Amino acid sequence: MITAEQYDRLARAVEKNLPVSVRLNLKAAASAGDTDGMNIIGEIPGGAKKDEVVMIGAHFDCWHSGTGATDNGAGSAVMMEVMRILKTLRLPLDRTVRIGLWSGEEEGLFGSRAYVKEHFADPKTMHVTAEHARLSGYFNLDNGSGKIRGVYLQGNDAMRPVFQAWLAPFHDLGVSAITIRNTGGNDHLSFDAVGLPGFQFIQDPLDYGTITHHSDMDTYDHAIAADLMQASAVIAAVVYEAANRPEMLPRRELPKAP
Ligand SMILES: [Zn+2]
Repeated sequence: MITAEQYDRLARAVEKNLPVSVRLNLKAAASAGDTDGMNIIGEIPGGAKKDEVVMIGAHFDCWHSGTGATDNGAGSAVMMEVMRILKTLRLPLDRTVRIGLWSGEEEGLFGSRAYVKEHFADPKTMHVTAEHARLSGYFNLDNGSGKIRGVYLQGNDAMRPVFQAWLAPFHDLGVSAITIRNTGGNDHLSFDAVGLPGFQFIQDPLDYGTITHHSDMDTYDHAIAADLMQASAVIAAVVYEAANRPEMLPRRELPKAP
């Protein structure tokens, strides 16, 4: 991976048939000595329905060349702030609220997939555990530092009126988009794959796709404090509503084992 500016300069030269040579100085070593990752799990115990769970999460690993401020320090920081907000305000929560900060996302959602397999269902067999029936939903954040603009329904149209009601108080903060579309590549898919309601929020793209994503420019300078605070407030409200909603969240049909 190189930054877009470096790549573009090479590409322009190639287009003009100018000879391009690149000299790389790599001092790297690969090790198979320690291949374990670790998920970070925490929770605020619920009240009347404490055996039922609402989960939030983000991946905690990053690429090596930057510090991973936007991918995915931003998402992890927002989700930790959501827990802090709920805890600090001492809001009554019927259901238990649990956070998962996943490892190994960049190698293939390994952390969240392992957690889902251990706790909820193995997507290969679709044998579900007792916990599967008690997870109301999972909310993920992993598209950089931009503020929240809405949510992807992952094909679960029964969630549309639910999100419409939850997000209505945030229209003046620019949160209004609700799309039936699927968004791929992030940890909510591990839950979605076994029939659990898993969602990712729509965010302002900022310079995520063009500058910081997986590049050595993924540094603290590109984390926008005001946007992260907006995202924290929106998700804290969503989690509060999910934890206290009389019913569990509506689900799509349980997928069949392949
Ligand atoms: Zn990411």
